[in-house]
Amino acid sequence: MTKPVFRFAPSPNGRLHLGHAYSALLNADFARRFDGRLLLRIEDIDTTRCRPAFEAAIYEDLAWLGLRWEEPVRRQSEHFDEYRAAFRRLQGRGAVYPCFCSRKDIAAAIACREAEGGQPWPRDPDGAPLYPGTCRLLPAGEAERRIAAGEPHAWRLTMAELQTLWPGPYSYGRFDRDGLEERVAADPWRWGDAAIVRKDTPTSYHLSVVVDDALQGVTHVVRGQDLEAATDLHVLLQTLLGLPTPLYHHHGLVLDPEGDKLAKSRQSQSLAELRAAGAAPQDIRQRLGF
Ligand code: GLU
Repeated sequence: MTKPVFRFAPSPNGRLHLGHAYSALLNADFARRFDGRLLLRIEDIDTTRCRPAFEAAIYEDLAWLGLRWEEPVRRQSEHFDEYRAAFRRLQGRGAVYPCFCSRKDIAAAIACREAEGGQPWPRDPDGAPLYPGTCRLLPAGEAERRIAAGEPHAWRLTMAELQTLWPGPYSYGRFDRDGLEERVAADPWRWGDAAIVRKDTPTSYHLSVVVDDALQGVTHVVRGQDLEAATDLHVLLQTLLGLPTPLYHHHGLVLDPEGDKLAKSRQSQSLAELRAAGAAPQDIRQRLGF
């Protein structure tokens, strides 16, 4: 029987904190208990925010925690061609359209709709307003002309059409700490016309994660609850691209004393700082319940 494959997939855009340590240790714990393999993937598609020094620090912090992973490590920034090929397949299915809107354009269109409709515009599971569909209505000729002229653009999923052509129902398998599995319904439509190729990078988190999990033969995805809703979108992409859907476990998040999610942007204490303050790997493991 082939072994289960787990992966820890951090982004090198800051130092790792306790939340990352929890996710990494939980992946390693599952891999050990399920007699599986553990991969490490560097999710660095955002070339403006990711830094080689942060990547080096990831290896250092994880090794310090006592983790081992298979080499070579997959670095997403080296695989833009593969994401482009997946995007072409989506394009071939008529599943996408180009979008030239800036954030400001989107905000203005939504303010306008809210004023007209007298009610708040619907939001996606992350709390961002759904894309109002402005560029979906562009005549094909105009979109082609603007692309040919080199105008920066994203590519969005055409959800209304997809919902007709690929109605589902969608679902995926969820597993718990003991490996018990159950089916969970997925609702990709609540994401609206999500961008699957961003303006600033030739892919998106959603597209590259789905392509990589399939290419790397990942069978068990263990990641934070903050990504649970994104799984619904991933299941749709897997279906459109003909890729297998792994099993998922979305773990609770490590919170700070105020009850907020730890975040690089909130300057949450990093593993490096905890180490400098005298913490030992064993202290971190204990604190996180391992
Ligand atoms: N790169 C993502 C993060 O650092 C995790 C992606 C995933 O596990 O699917 O939050």
